[in-house]
Amino acid sequence: MKNIIITGASRGIGRAIAIRLAREGYRVAINYYRNDEAAKDVLRLIEQEGGSGELYQADVSRYEEVEAMVKKFYSAYGKIYGLVANAGIYIRRNIREMSIEDWKRTMDVNLNGAFYLVKASLPYLEHHASIVFISSQLAFRGSPSSVAYSASKAGLLGLMRSLAIQLAPDIRVNAIAPGTIDTDMISNYTEEERRKREREIPLGRIGSPEDIANVVSFLLSEDSSYITGATIDVNGGFYIH
Ligand code: NAD
Repeated sequence: MKNIIITGASRGIGRAIAIRLAREGYRVAINYYRNDEAAKDVLRLIEQEGGSGELYQADVSRYEEVEAMVKKFYSAYGKIYGLVANAGIYIRRNIREMSIEDWKRTMDVNLNGAFYLVKASLPYLEHHASIVFISSQLAFRGSPSSVAYSASKAGLLGLMRSLAIQLAPDIRVNAIAPGTIDTDMISNYTEEERRKREREIPLGRIGSPEDIANVVSFLLSEDSSYITGATIDVNGGFYIH
């Protein structure tokens, strides 16, 4: 059974990825930050469906916690086939409102967290492994209220490209740039804002967490064996470049 670590998997996109991958027969390490109950729910669902998973509480912005999680998973189940760096935070502030702490926290979770996951896992990865970073369309587009978020997500793409070259030919590294996806991250949208966004998206709807999980599944599979260093837009055509 192939082992995969998914960060931030107690809800939203991470949850959908964990459920999808477990259905495909992977053993999933469900990393979560604080919400034990939500994480246990994900595991319960996976086990009800006959899948395999383990819960690992860790703050991805703390290297020692990430390292402990990776070592524990490896000690229990052996080499790790895949990593999905999904955990992220979105502090909506422009530069005047943003504190130094907000900026640092965003970088710590969104960018450092992904680096720590790869760094800690490298000695334990299978010979042919696949790594997926969850970036954002805001890595490409400016937005006044997303100074730290956009910078962290663009940084992830830089990290991904360098790792793709360095870790080839054994390990593939790719990213997904989601558009607007229906999770807690957009729970601040009013009904009117949602409808406006739906009209702006050529495919006519806000994305679902499963839309992202589908592409993660592809990037972990043999079907993507000739893809590395790529960023796949999953945004309904909202941002075409
Ligand atoms: P979400 O807020 O529901 O999920 C984020 C997850 O990350 C949560 O489970 C949270 O607990 C976890 N997390 C936060 N800080 C953490 C930490 N320090 N350690 C471990 N886990 C931590 O939102 P989501 O939409 O499911 O976001 C998942 C990823 O997708 C994020 O990286 C986000 O930036 C990205 N994304 C989301 C959208 C969207 O529209 N929802 C768009 C583009 C990119």
